[in-house]
Amino acid sequence: MDGRELARRIVERATAEAAAFTERTGGAPCLATVLVGDDPASRTYVRMKQARCAKAGISSRPVALPAATSTAQLVATITELSEDPGVHGILLQHPVGPHLDERAAFEAIAPGKDVDGVTARSFAAMALGTPGFTSCTPGGIVRLLDEYGVDPAGRRAVVVGRSAILGRPMGLLLLGRDATVTYAHSRTRDLAEVVREADILIAAVGKPRFIRGADVKPGAVVIDAGYNPGNVGDVDFESVRHRAGLITPVPGGVGPMTVAVLLAQTVAAARSATAQ
Ligand code: NAP
Repeated sequence: MDGRELARRIVERATAEAAAFTERTGGAPCLATVLVGDDPASRTYVRMKQARCAKAGISSRPVALPAATSTAQLVATITELSEDPGVHGILLQHPVGPHLDERAAFEAIAPGKDVDGVTARSFAAMALGTPGFTSCTPGGIVRLLDEYGVDPAGRRAVVVGRSAILGRPMGLLLLGRDATVTYAHSRTRDLAEVVREADILIAAVGKPRFIRGADVKPGAVVIDAGYNPGNVGDVDFESVRHRAGLITPVPGGVGPMTVAVLLAQTVAAARSATAQ
């Protein structure tokens, strides 16, 4: 499943919409990026997202805070951005550091600017199937399934991983599409048996080449959301590709979709903030 090509089309559309927005309002859609500390990987991610924004005609408001920032300071900074009419979307790069209350920081993001889909309100919207921003990676995966004509209705979906930004919302979105959903996690017994039941398998574990071909049901749709050092996914691509009906590569599968959804949701936030 080619995430690059679909992402390109989504970004192309967001770019056209951003240009129309700029023409109409005299200013570009604006994404604020909040980075705490100097973790090199986080810095790289934020820079990459800013570069993609710039290419799509979305301006960035980079906010870099020292590692010693307190939760109160971080919440105050995000609250300020939430109240700033010149900012349309807010992205808090995570993880933010163990001394900080990440949840409190996320919840300071105004719902209309939660373009990364991290607030409890966005999560509830994903769970209930009501309008709202989706968490970018699960949102991108649903679009990929749609693009390849994979209808989850009535099928067995297994999500390996239950993090708040990835595994958990993923399962809820699939449930919303009428899949029969199972979550697996570090306490799951007989994981291989659970995985083998999947018609649609989502790997969101954070362990390189964790899912092996022998564990995959022949013909299954296998989505690798993992991204580990050295550009390696959570799925052992070589052994799984021979059993899977469809499979996403790493790189070039889920990763580009995540950024594309972020850009599309930023433009959507800008449009709805200024809608008459
Ligand atoms: P996370 O917060 O570390 O969550 C990992 C999940 O995997 C947890 O729910 C954990 O279970 C489960 N797990 C760990 N070991 C397991 C095992 N042996 N058997 C079964 N389940 C196990 O990670 P995350 O943020 O969700 O990210 C997961 C992966 O996706 C990472 O590779 C990350 O880099 C990647 N990712 C990619 C993108 C993208 O844009 N492509 C975006 C976000 C994340 P417990 O809950 O029981 O601990």
